[in-house]
Amino acid sequence: MSRLNYIEIRDAFPEGKQIVNRLIKNKKIVMDTFAMEIREIIKDPYMNETDKMFDISIIEHIHLPKLISEYNRLKKYAFFYQNKSSGEYVLKVENARNVKIEDIVETKVRQTGARKATAPCPLHKETKNSFHIYKDTNSFYCFGCCQGGDVIHFVKLMYDLDFKDAVRFLNEYK
Ligand SMILES: [Zn+2]
Repeated sequence: MSRLNYIEIRDAFPEGKQIVNRLIKNKKIVMDTFAMEIREIIKDPYMNETDKMFDISIIEHIHLPKLISEYNRLKKYAFFYQNKSSGEYVLKVENARNVKIEDIVETKVRQTGARKATAPCPLHKETKNSFHIYKDTNSFYCFGCCQGGDVIHFVKLMYDLDFKDAVRFLNEYK
């Protein structure tokens, strides 16, 4: 499956906003703790200078850079969450997800049960029914080309669209 970008994650996962904000707060607390720790080390009357230098440089060169890069990545997410258009787009993504895969597959769909259907895979040339549709989750997996995912991912692959256009396609399909 292709990697999602920030905007796609935000739109597909609106509840992530709270998680991102909480993680940022946590990272901030840890960063403050490190700063405090450095001050404590400097003041420590029982430590010699070499040990102080060593402990401080471990914090500065190993712990802090990792923390800062995680913090910056989270801030980027927070930025995109802040610029979140409206609930309207979230609704569009939801509408798109409700379009049944079996309704948009152009090859002949065979019902194999209440919760499953199969079809010749529309994503690769074949005569067998390697393409399996799972109705409960409205997802698919092809045992021939090993691709799978939800209906939006299917449309992305089928028509070579990005996430946004796949969502638009599915909204107009209805
Ligand atoms: Zn396939």
